Amino acid sequence: MIILVINCGSSSIKFQLFDMPSKKDLAKGLIERIGEEDAKITYKHNGEKLVEVLPIKDHKEGLSKLAQVITDAETGVVSSLSDIEAVGHRVVHGGEYYSSSVVIDDIVLKAINDCADLAPLHNPPNLMGITEAINMFPGVKNVAVFDTAFHQTLPEYAYTYPISHSYYDKYKVRRYGFHGTSHSFVAGRAAELLGKPLSEVNLITCHLGNGCSITAVKNGNSIDTSMGLTPLEGLVMGTRSGDIDPAILFYLAKKENLTINDFDRILNKESGLLGISGISNDQRNLEDIQDSNKMAKLALDIFDYKLKKYIGCYLAVLNRVDAIVFTGGIGENGHLSREKSCSDMDALGVEIDTKKNEETIRGKEGDISKASSRVKILVVPTDEEGQIASDTYQLVK
Ligand code: ADP
Repeated sequence: MIILVINCGSSSIKFQLFDMPSKKDLAKGLIERIGEEDAKITYKHNGEKLVEVLPIKDHKEGLSKLAQVITDAETGVVSSLSDIEAVGHRVVHGGEYYSSSVVIDDIVLKAINDCADLAPLHNPPNLMGITEAINMFPGVKNVAVFDTAFHQTLPEYAYTYPISHSYYDKYKVRRYGFHGTSHSFVAGRAAELLGKPLSEVNLITCHLGNGCSITAVKNGNSIDTSMGLTPLEGLVMGTRSGDIDPAILFYLAKKENLTINDFDRILNKESGLLGISGISNDQRNLEDIQDSNKMAKLALDIFDYKLKKYIGCYLAVLNRVDAIVFTGGIGENGHLSREKSCSDMDALGVEIDTKKNEETIRGKEGDISKASSRVKILVVPTDEEGQIASDTYQLVK
């Protein structure tokens, strides 16, 4: 069964074609800068890479371009669009409606739209992608895979904020958590590597990319996670602050006459590694200069310290932990962050093997803990698209 996976952002479409159930990667690509004269499509198939810069007006045109490349006589991997039997969509927010993936119908479309207030940057483009796919692939089943779904098992005391309960009653203000597809995928893979059923493992999964989140997984279920109502809470990220004292906002608002929109920009786009260093949101760039640049080093130290604090929290929450699992661009490659966040924790049963850690990079899976470490430390490359394809296949087969 050929399945197309689509991840529609506000100005981008990420896509991948799979042959299921073998999960064979037939082709994948990225359309960026939608709405611009110099939009760009990058497309990979059969080990070849095609890059084209062209004007793309909107998501509809973007998906037409996608349809063209995958069916093209030279670059195509299917002879016609009717070869595609299902489409899986990444949807960021499913609110309290969905705790697993679901075949899309009118009720699901309405629920995704209802959650748009909670994820204004994500759900509207996700919905646009779904609507266009429904038109483009008539009669084909579309499946929504939610970033929030995996975290719907959080207990009430972990998802409720300590503010007036009326805000939950009226507006559903609570912790939802994100990156669920990735946390769920790496948890499943970690259980396989540990040789135990998922329902018997306790894990701390760290998804560290441009956005970063950490999850406590008990017996295979998410029981706490660092992102909250929105993906701004928790760990330090590329440009997002993560946790800060909320009163900083009142203080700065008075000092600098700042508005809600200013804080939205400051905390989401101008903070984190970029804000502290004043140089870059990219962990690699900061690592390259940290020996000679004090602020780059400080940014990395704060990132790793916050990560270590959360690992400590979740060790306490879970008590018995089988493994700490690292994934995402930094989690998979950033051996310095892994080392710093897991060092000096031998009394807690966490012992990292520095040599194995340094050797585990670039998409490699591995156990980077010492043989004596009670808690294993694993690196598991994430595969959100593959997980979306698997969920889609399970629901439509
Ligand atoms: P996204 O969340 O956008 O999918 P990624 O998962 O690709 O992002 O992660 C991007 C982050 O991974 C960047 O901070 C980048 O610096 C970091 N990264 C990638 N490779 C390395 C590396 N070799 N060492 C340290 N950090 C890395």
